[in-house]
Amino acid sequence: MSDKIEKFSQAIRLGATFRPQCFEMLFLRDQNNRATKTCALGAALEALGHDFIDSVNTHEMIKRFDLGSSCVCPVCGTTKVAVWDAIAHLNDTHRWSRENIADFLNKGFMSDKIKKFSQAIRLGATFRPQCFNIVADRDEKQNVLKTCAVGAALEALGEDLEAFAGYEIIKRFDLNDLFVCPVCTRSVGVTWDGIIHLNDFHHWTREKIATWLEEKKDL
Ligand SMILES: [Zn+2]
Ligand SMILES: [Zn+2]
Repeated sequence: MSDKIEKFSQAIRLGATFRPQCFEMLFLRDQNNRATKTCALGAALEALGHDFIDSVNTHEMIKRFDLGSSCVCPVCGTTKVAVWDAIAHLNDTHRWSRENIADFLNKGFMSDKIKKFSQAIRLGATFRPQCFNIVADRDEKQNVLKTCAVGAALEALGEDLEAFAGYEIIKRFDLNDLFVCPVCTRSVGVTWDGIIHLNDFHHWTREKIATWLEEKKDL
């Protein structure tokens, strides 16, 4: 069964069907040391065949399921070092059901808390290195390795990196004003195009682009 599980959210969802939820521990045990309940992480571990061992190799899990990115809590807005920690936080602090946590993992981590496009760029930039002339740089298995400024923002927003130039995003973040480049003074379309221009043509870092958007455009 565990070989069929590709996403951590699937493991949580499956494990949640085995037994009720517990909090502040991976597994709740009875007097005979049998597990009776699991938290979101515990549920996933059970579904993945980890059989209630306390010495789980967290690092391996984080790597296998790509749970190492930093992540903003959708409830209280605190930043967690890794998605793994955010799952425990949602389970223990906010008492989210394991199904809700699985939904959250599917949807993208924090898109509701992001009010400005500069925040999305800044957050997405913490996930992976920058690339140029392409939204997302992928390996042969289609895993994303690098993102440009708009790619970083799309990833932080939980958007599909293929659905490039989503009209919804341009509208939602007000990125359709005419853009004049602060470096070469060329007019290069709307703000969305300008961000791509600063990334690809002037090789600005994503952080620099975010700062410029914030300070000059309040975006
Ligand atoms: Zn929180
Ligand atoms: Zn320019």
